[in-house]
Amino acid sequence: MSSLEIARLGNPILRKIAEPVDLQALADPDSEIQAFIDAMTVIMREEEGVGLAAPQVSRSLRIIVVESLDNKRYDNRPDIPLAVFINPRITCYAEEQILGWESCLSLADFRGLVPRSKQVTMEAYNRRGEKQVVEAKGFFAVVLQHEIDHLNGLVFLDRMTDLTKLAYQKEFETYWVEDAKQAAKI
Ligand code: ZN
Repeated sequence: MSSLEIARLGNPILRKIAEPVDLQALADPDSEIQAFIDAMTVIMREEEGVGLAAPQVSRSLRIIVVESLDNKRYDNRPDIPLAVFINPRITCYAEEQILGWESCLSLADFRGLVPRSKQVTMEAYNRRGEKQVVEAKGFFAVVLQHEIDHLNGLVFLDRMTDLTKLAYQKEFETYWVEDAKQAAKI
């Protein structure tokens, strides 16, 4: 069991701008921050999320973890190997957008249709404090945009342009899942 707990919508920490991580603190592999990153990975896997941002476990820091391997919530999606991104910043958004049904561990049970850039360039540091430039497209780009929004106090609802496409998971499966499959083929 993870020692962390998911902060849900209504918890003010989800609406705060998260603080940058002091990269010096990453140097010691036995540091508290490294243990925290491990704990984030554990709870993301337990909750079957494809990404998690530190504010979602009540820590106002600019850290995200992502991983998608045969994920049940998002079938037919490409795998994303486990990655930790610290102080991530999107430096370029493609103009072209894609619409996808997102969910969020902090908005348990909701699904919403969200427009996102199809491709982004992100600068971030890995957990060893090394700078990385990541080119992401499709599902991976969407996950990064969703998680980085959490560091800026935003949730996917804020990005929706049509709230008639907000549904509980059960109703999503009843009324929208076929529509979503069609959309995924385009
Ligand atoms: Zn989320």
